[in-house]
Amino acid sequence: MKGMLASEQTQEMQECLICKQEKGYGIQVLHYFICESCEQELVNTDTKEEAYNEYVHRLRKVRDSLFQNRRPIH
Ligand SMILES: [Zn+2]
Repeated sequence: MKGMLASEQTQEMQECLICKQEKGYGIQVLHYFICESCEQELVNTDTKEEAYNEYVHRLRKVRDSLFQNRRPIH
């Protein structure tokens, strides 16, 4: 039955590092979460360097802001 299967789904929603949307499925990279669709895009952008660089740039920005939060600049 459909209802029984749904109740077994215990996966928690997590915020994706790239698209900032709450998703239930994805991969965990260290302590970062990347949702299924962004992971697919990362895999598929292998031949499109520009798009890949955009992701790398975004990841770097997130990492920088994490460091800034840890250490106040003032
Ligand atoms: Zn995502």
